[in-house]
Amino acid sequence: MANIGYIQINRYCNNQCHFCSNPSNWNNITYERWIELIDDFIEKKYAWIIFTGWEPTLSPDLSKWIEYSTSKNIDCRIISNWMQCSNIEYVQKLKDSWLSLIHFSLYSYIPDIHDFLTNTPGSYKKLLKSIQNALKLWIRVQLNSVINKYNQNHLDKTTKFLVKNFPQINHFVWNNLDPLMMRKTDIALSTLPDFKIAWESIVKAMTFLEQTWRTFRVERLPLCFMRWFEYASTETRKIVKNEERIVHFLDNRETIRQTGNYFIHDKLPECKECDLNSICAGIYERETYYNYVKVTSQKLTLKEKQKIIDFIKWD
Ligand code: SF4
Repeated sequence: MANIGYIQINRYCNNQCHFCSNPSNWNNITYERWIELIDDFIEKKYAWIIFTGWEPTLSPDLSKWIEYSTSKNIDCRIISNWMQCSNIEYVQKLKDSWLSLIHFSLYSYIPDIHDFLTNTPGSYKKLLKSIQNALKLWIRVQLNSVINKYNQNHLDKTTKFLVKNFPQINHFVWNNLDPLMMRKTDIALSTLPDFKIAWESIVKAMTFLEQTWRTFRVERLPLCFMRWFEYASTETRKIVKNEERIVHFLDNRETIRQTGNYFIHDKLPECKECDLNSICAGIYERETYYNYVKVTSQKLTLKEKQKIIDFIKWD
């Protein structure tokens, strides 16, 4: 069981992604509060801490906190746009504080689409430079991508592009768009994905990664859109392994402890007949945003379902 804690460091950013689920409110965490939260996760025996924001790299204290966490033997990871890493001296500073893994976010292999989604011209070029810098300094790199309307039909091509250019990358994460906290502009709302189109390209991407012995995870995608790859659903894994998460936000949500039912979203009548129902999270934000999504009840034998559960437990 791997419990993971999240700490938001600041809430301002050097990108302006249309679908950002934590838009700027200019809040910052204090140095002392951060240390207090890290110590609390250590006491709770959490496996990792993830520093988020956005944008953690804009905090002048980031390397001190990484150093503190590693000195206390708790693995820390950072989710960031990593634009700052286009400067290799900055990457070296993080490496000197013992940072060993970076998650980069690339939305598309097509520069114009990535720059449009980040709402920041030149961000694609900087991101590729940042990935090169991290790999050059032997920092492990993983890739995150938000599934949305503008990249849904070429998730596989983006994955292949990354593997071709950066073969050292061996883990990919897709987060289906979280519309709840994002800005409600027309452009932001236009990014909501078509699950069926995304399904076609993500299945190709997952097949490719499996064939090349790479690993991946998918968040907020119901299991009927990732049949045969159920083990990669982050919610299903949390349900099966009975894991928990604690997230410290820098807004009025303050602290949320996520356990059991928290990982189950909305279900439809079809779900009652579905053999995956007990390990499927259903549809996130179905009532308000994803009310156009149609699900398909799945038929499995008990043995097939148990195989999925066992695979997750032993993975
Ligand atoms: S029908 Fe419902 S329970 Fe079954 S896989 Fe789809 S969303 Fe999950």
